[in-house]
Amino acid sequence: MKEESYFKQVDPLCSLDTGESPAAGPREQGEGQARGLRPPREGTCEGTLALCRAGPRGGSAKLRGLSPGAGRSAGRKWRRAGGRAAAGRSGRRRSGRAEPAVLLSDAPPARTAVAMSSVSPIQIPRRLPLLLTNEGVLLPGSTMRTSVDSARNLQLVRSRLLKGTSLQSTILGVIPNTPDPASDAQDLPPLHRIGTAALAVQVVGSNWPKPHYTLLITGLCRFQIVQVLKEKPYPVAEVEQLDRLEEFPNTCKTREELGELSEQFYKYAVQLVEMLDMSVPAVAKLRRLLDSLPREALPDILTSIIRTSNKEKLQILDAVSLEERFKMTIPLLVRQIEGLKLLQKTRKHKQDDDKRVIAIRPIRRITHIPGTLEDDDEDEDNDDIVMLERKIRTSSMPEQAHKVCVKEIKRLKKMPQSMPEYALTRNYLELMVELPWNKSTTDRLDIRAARILLDNDHYAMEKLKKRVLEYLAVRQLKNNLKGPILCFVGPPGVGKTSVGRSVAKTLGREFHRIALGGVCDQSDIRGHRRTYVGSMPGRIINGLKTVGVNNPVFLLDEVDKLGKSLQGDPAAALLEVLDPEQNHNFTDHYLNVAFDLSQVLFIATANTTATIPPALLDRMEIIQVPGYTQEEKIEIAHRHLIPKQLEQHGLTPQQIQIPQVTTLDIITRYTREAGVRSLDRKFGAICRAVAVKVAEGQHKEAKLDRYDVAEGEGGREHILEDAKPESISDTTDLALPPEMPILIDFHALKDILGPPMYEMEVSERLSQPGVAIGLAWTPLGGEIMFVEASRMDGEGQLTLTGQLGDVMKESAHLAISWLRSNAKKYHLTNASGSFDLLDNTDIHLHFPAGAVTKDGPSAGVTIVTCLASLFSGRLVRSDVAMTGEITLRGLVLPKEDLRGKEILLVIRNVSR
Ligand code: ADP
Repeated sequence: MKEESYFKQVDPLCSLDTGESPAAGPREQGEGQARGLRPPREGTCEGTLALCRAGPRGGSAKLRGLSPGAGRSAGRKWRRAGGRAAAGRSGRRRSGRAEPAVLLSDAPPARTAVAMSSVSPIQIPRRLPLLLTNEGVLLPGSTMRTSVDSARNLQLVRSRLLKGTSLQSTILGVIPNTPDPASDAQDLPPLHRIGTAALAVQVVGSNWPKPHYTLLITGLCRFQIVQVLKEKPYPVAEVEQLDRLEEFPNTCKTREELGELSEQFYKYAVQLVEMLDMSVPAVAKLRRLLDSLPREALPDILTSIIRTSNKEKLQILDAVSLEERFKMTIPLLVRQIEGLKLLQKTRKHKQDDDKRVIAIRPIRRITHIPGTLEDDDEDEDNDDIVMLERKIRTSSMPEQAHKVCVKEIKRLKKMPQSMPEYALTRNYLELMVELPWNKSTTDRLDIRAARILLDNDHYAMEKLKKRVLEYLAVRQLKNNLKGPILCFVGPPGVGKTSVGRSVAKTLGREFHRIALGGVCDQSDIRGHRRTYVGSMPGRIINGLKTVGVNNPVFLLDEVDKLGKSLQGDPAAALLEVLDPEQNHNFTDHYLNVAFDLSQVLFIATANTTATIPPALLDRMEIIQVPGYTQEEKIEIAHRHLIPKQLEQHGLTPQQIQIPQVTTLDIITRYTREAGVRSLDRKFGAICRAVAVKVAEGQHKEAKLDRYDVAEGEGGREHILEDAKPESISDTTDLALPPEMPILIDFHALKDILGPPMYEMEVSERLSQPGVAIGLAWTPLGGEIMFVEASRMDGEGQLTLTGQLGDVMKESAHLAISWLRSNAKKYHLTNASGSFDLLDNTDIHLHFPAGAVTKDGPSAGVTIVTCLASLFSGRLVRSDVAMTGEITLRGLVLPKEDLRGKEILLVIRNVSR
């Protein structure tokens, strides 16, 4: 049964037409029909190949149109039609006699009788409706989609395919190469003599842009028009079948007849198919079909698959004799084979060229990696993977990392690109090859140059500069210094970051700043494990990737503001990073292999050491960077900040002048800070305002120049006449351009920055007894604090306000106790003149900035002074501010952590 004719199996008509087949019983036939009626399922892009083959079981057959899916409606239609066929069959079985004319009513009885003869040739109907096409040529055994929009063809589809439901009505005569089939001319155009009888498999209708149908048709056999029977509404012709549709009983004989020709053809066909990519399912299927299809069917099928013109297809269609057909198809096959060979050759050349280019690159010596994707795969992604693989080979990563990369790339190659893990693995590998495992810059260690550079960049901060120079000097003497991590602690804007940057500059290293403020997840430092969605490396590894060398200067900014959360303690993660003994083996969770951080120079900054975890603090050497005095600020402003701002705003000293008094005014009245950041911003604002003036001045100057020129040419009247309205208003506006340089005095300051923000009315506030000035320390720098006291009638109560902590409250009690015990000695009395200060008296002590919590023992001396002033009625000097803890015996303990400079700053502020 396997040798059964494919046409017989395909053609549902064959069994209907011939009645009982000697080869298969009615049941088997029925099965064959039902399967044969299935609409095509698989598709090829061109949609020209319909391959049929013997079914896996005898009697069953499959028709597989390899065109894009047949529609559901067609499927339904076919099922219905199949149902009818089956009904006819069952009726036949019931009655016990053949009823061949169920569907082929058009076929003349004589013919049917012949069809029922012992040879049982399979016939198409003698009368066929003609579908006139111009687009392509349908060959027997192939499938084609054709658009139907001419009036005749539309009529044919409507009356034969949409209304009629019989199988017979779905057989059409397709006439190719009809000149202008869409023309609605009355007369039928000249028709091609030979056509293809076809089975309409699917009809899809659409109304846009104009009503039309798309037909999916499968070629069955050639026919020849004997005579056109009618022309309207669609042509119908009496036809003569040219190809035999029955099983080829004499296949062997035919083979002998055709002899070598058939063999030769078969060889070329096999050669061609083997040159194609067998991994494409359609090609693999074609290869199998070559063996299972009868040779006679191959020329038509292969012609419709290979690249041929319509003209060539038409010639094949016209070649009725099998021998002629073979002869005509062989050159077409040979041409296709040659074309493919040429293509393969050029591809190979291209590859060879690529390889040669790689080979002559001096450093990138590429050895062939077994299993690399260097085939003729032009896929860009695969190229990328090959590149990645090469990079892994050539990168100088340590052995362990290299092993991991090789393993990962092997996995990557096996992974489909659509897998989410594909992108993850690729990103990972890209990071691995980008990391500077062995790439570093050479240090430029010249202490003298470093000193000059530091001095040039920063005014004052002697202590810090001294320590940095020491550090650099030791590095110069001992290259692989495992020294401590420097941590600059000080208020904002005192130049901690900029010193860090200068250190990098003096060493000739890359600089990278890692802001740690608010970081509360340890993965921020150590990275996420790759198992998490959206995983990425930590900031340290990211920073290394950014700078591209393994010995940069990393500035860990604001280590005191590291947070803590459920996601772990980032400070703990930093411990490993900052420990010189451990960090040569730092393992980021994302990388999962160790990276050597020992060459990285870490510098940390903080505003206070109070919030740095002790373990972390222990690993760092703290260098205090104090705030600046007014004099220092003035110097910094004139040496660094003003020139920098002028440059940024495109101004020159010839255009703007800021005298030192103005700078002092800005410092005292517009800023209150330990550093110079706010001061810098104020200069920025001044420069912007001046820039506007300068630009306006230039504009006006330019206009004046224009007028001058016009006047010079005797054009005064000309201006007055031609440009009167505009020029008059303009010239009235035209004040002279501002005189250069624009001097910034206090009035200009007020104009630009607004009224002063801080007025120093210290002496006013100290105009009555019971007020003293204390010194306070905040992470943002030193502050002065007015401590106020008042007394009233009462029962000896002490009231304290201003959010004081316990220690401060105790200091207040201590002060009162000491004053009471020494009242006589210092002539302190209450309102009624008694030395018992609390007799019928209540005391209220207030520390301003009531919303800010205050604590600490150092307010003791200020409280004593304040109360002494209250009870003695004498004023406290307005130019003294104080800080210090007192004891019960009246001693003021020295304050160690508040440096002279800050006291000085405050006292100077007070004295204004
Ligand atoms: P911090 O890191 O301490 O908050 P920055 O380093 O960002 O402060 O400094 C703020 C600005 O002040 C920078 O433009 C810096 O150049 C400038 N600056 C601070 N101190 C000095 C100084 N001593 N000499 C010159 N410029 C300074």
